[in-house]
Amino acid sequence: MPNSSPAMPALTHQRCFNHATREAVARCPACAQFFCRECVTEHDDRVICTACLKKLARVPLLKRPAFAIVLRGAQCLFGLFAAWFFFYLIGTALLALPTAFHEGTLWQVGWMDK
Ligand SMILES: [Zn+2]
Ligand SMILES: [Zn+2]
Repeated sequence: MPNSSPAMPALTHQRCFNHATREAVARCPACAQFFCRECVTEHDDRVICTACLKKLARVPLLKRPAFAIVLRGAQCLFGLFAAWFFFYLIGTALLALPTAFHEGTLWQVGWMDK
């Protein structure tokens, strides 16, 4: 009887999206397509197809190691500059204060009335 054979092939026997003759070994989590061993690569501890890997490599510039190091250095320099500028402002403000303030006599003498 022809009805005894399964109507559909098992889902485990998927073929590669790029190579119709090759059996798929992995499924790309990004595009949900099946791929053979040659068409997938490991990226960030997960298997992804080369097409999606190219897409990923193009978009997140901030996540590239070299760029991250440069960015970290720039952030450190900016932090140092911000700290220096902050203390410079405090120093300038202290210098601008009247001497009586440092002597503690500001509130005793009405220096604004002079
Ligand atoms: Zn993909
Ligand atoms: Zn393939």
